[in-house]
Amino acid sequence: MDKDTTLHDVIIVGGGPAGLTAAVYAARKMLKVLLITQNIGGQALYSLDVENYMGYQFISGQDLMDRFEKQVEKYNVKNVFSEVKSVTKENEVFITRSTNGDEYHGKAIIIATGKKSRTLNAKGLDRLIGRGVSYCATCDAPLFMGLDVVVVGGGNSAITAAYELTSIARQVYLVNRGPLKADEIYLEKIRDAPNIKCFIGYELVEVTGEDALDAAALRNLSDDSSVVLPVAGVFIEIGLIPNSDMVKDLVLLNKNDEIVVSYDCSTSLPGVFAAGDVTTVPEKQIIVAAGEGAKAAISAYKYILKEGEHAETSY
Ligand SMILES: Cc1cc2nc3c(=O)[nH]c(=O)nc-3n(C[C@H](O)[C@H](O)[C@H](O)COP(=O)(O)OP(=O)(O)OC[C@H]3O[C@@H](n4cnc5c(N)ncnc54)[C@H](O)[C@@H]3O)c2cc1C
Repeated sequence: MDKDTTLHDVIIVGGGPAGLTAAVYAARKMLKVLLITQNIGGQALYSLDVENYMGYQFISGQDLMDRFEKQVEKYNVKNVFSEVKSVTKENEVFITRSTNGDEYHGKAIIIATGKKSRTLNAKGLDRLIGRGVSYCATCDAPLFMGLDVVVVGGGNSAITAAYELTSIARQVYLVNRGPLKADEIYLEKIRDAPNIKCFIGYELVEVTGEDALDAAALRNLSDDSSVVLPVAGVFIEIGLIPNSDMVKDLVLLNKNDEIVVSYDCSTSLPGVFAAGDVTTVPEKQIIVAAGEGAKAAISAYKYILKEGEHAETSY
């Protein structure tokens, strides 16, 4: 447990594309920067092929994030690994408190905590995570070579996952409560796949298995009948939720729990800035998150300058 009373200029929470970029920009302003994160890389690590980050025709998410990390290491950024559970403002100082008891102080704070997978209430799901239940098709699909799997969801991530699995699994069952809502470009890909069967108007109610998942039970929403599919894997791809809980009592969130930001990444409380997928900025992409991280750092710097308490600067 670390109760550090050093007053940092800026605390950045989150080590994904937004947080890492913010760290470089803030450090280049000679601010005293503390980066608190649970991991380095964030969701970008799940992307096997990034084909839309400028400067690279194509790079894996892991390689891209390694490069981000190396760039941060060139600067004076203090990095601690912990999960921030709350942020408060006390006597003009922002205090972060982590689940392990860590406590840190800053004049300004940038929240860049991204998103995490939405989950379901189906019975047995938590018990079988990592033993057949997965929230990341990109990461875990190769484990299901020649096996039968279920993909739950009807948006872009579910359809992309189902498509990816058609070339790995023997049979892919796509389960969704309502009509598929993915973009046509993705739907086109699965339309002719011979090993996809769709269960539209069904919900996943239970997964079973002792040591590993062996079946998924579905309920037909129109007549309440049930279907049991003998499968080895269930991929939950029903979207993402923002990691904004730690500031829910501090700044304004929208109805989707995203942090409401202005064009300069400021939030409803002066001194709190936010960047990337956790915010109301609509496009959830690495390049957008990185750009927003840069903006948030510059805005935090301007805020600290105005407060007149920053260290000497250079650019
Ligand atoms: C499977 C998949 C494939 C994708 N492919 C692409 C692609 O090809 N191209 C593209 O541009 N985008 C892609 N994306 C989207 C892209 O990854 C995200 O838009 C981007 O990573 C968002 O960056 P971020 O920094 O805002 O958040 P994240 O990447 O979510 O990073 C958040 C960081 O905050 C940390 N964190 C969270 N909560 C806390 C807490 N309480 N305390 C401390 N730290 C915390 C996390 O550990 C993480 O380091 C993909 C996403 C997924 C899921």
